Amino acid sequence: MASSSTAPKFRVAICGAGIGGLVLAIAMGRFAQHDVQIDVYESRDAITTAGVGISIASRTDEIVQELGMYEEIFGISTKPPSSGFGLPKSLSSTVFNLIRTFRATIQECCENPTRWALHVVNELPLSTCDRVALMGDACHAMQSHMGAGANVAIEDAFVLGRLLAHPLTTLDNVHVALKIYQDIRLSAAQFIGRKSEDLGYMYEFDAPGYYDGTDRGNEGEELELLKEKILEDRRGLEGQGGAVAGWLKAERKLQESVGLCNGRCENDASLFSL
Ligand SMILES: Cc1cc2nc3c(=O)[nH]c(=O)nc-3n(C[C@H](O)[C@H](O)[C@H](O)COP(=O)(O)OP(=O)(O)OC[C@H]3O[C@@H](n4cnc5c(N)ncnc54)[C@H](O)[C@@H]3O)c2cc1C
Repeated sequence: MASSSTAPKFRVAICGAGIGGLVLAIAMGRFAQHDVQIDVYESRDAITTAGVGISIASRTDEIVQELGMYEEIFGISTKPPSSGFGLPKSLSSTVFNLIRTFRATIQECCENPTRWALHVVNELPLSTCDRVALMGDACHAMQSHMGAGANVAIEDAFVLGRLLAHPLTTLDNVHVALKIYQDIRLSAAQFIGRKSEDLGYMYEFDAPGYYDGTDRGNEGEELELLKEKILEDRRGLEGQGGAVAGWLKAERKLQESVGLCNGRCENDASLFSL
């Protein structure tokens, strides 16, 4: 928020107090302090929950730490951070038995089940125009198989918030900062969206070349291959450069845009095509 003694360099209107909008406000509040006036607009009367949990990926941990929210978030978390996707062997048979009775139990609970549509946003060619930027689900709502939508929204918010908060970003060059955000985040988020879709096909035994639910005599072996592929894809994503690395790259591009490189910045001429 703006202090009475210094005028903010600009105002930012955040439309939507979902996890993306809130993390954006926190990131700007933390790094710009009184330099940016932040207004959050939310169409609902109150901030509510949808009744589902959100798993925070280990690559998002670093953002949570950078924002000084680690203790707060993991204080209410049901699982320690970075606890991975594996299931202890001792639990496997318990879970297997639960799954066997799952369908009947669910059918008993839902006499008149209705559909819960999951909307995705097809890949957009851009996420910014002039002084407006899209982030999170508004920009790249994805299928839920990876459990990554909120994590990606947090990553968007971190990079965008730090760019807007940066002392080199002013009202005059804010469109350049937003273009840098687009260059750093859009394809990375869309890549995760595609991976999430691929995982869905694998979970539903519908991935070309992998186990398809038909017992062809080597079901165990085929299921093992499918499991390894799923784990490999999920691990691959965790290994990808996260938002803090993305932010450092974004900062170099911002410095380069105002001629503050000192020979250390990457040379990316395509950046300033706006
Ligand atoms: C069942 C389920 C499970 C999920 N599990 C996970 C998980 O484990 N891990 C994970 O990372 N992701 C998960 N996701 C995805 C995750 O919930 C979303 O990707 C994430 O909430 C997106 O955040 P967002 O802030 O971009 O959008 P939203 O959370 O949709 O927030 C947008 C906000 O904008 C408000 N709004 C809309 N229009 C306007 C307007 N015109 N003016 C003002 N306000 C407006 C809305 O009311 C809303 O509060 C799950 C999703 C579902 C459905």
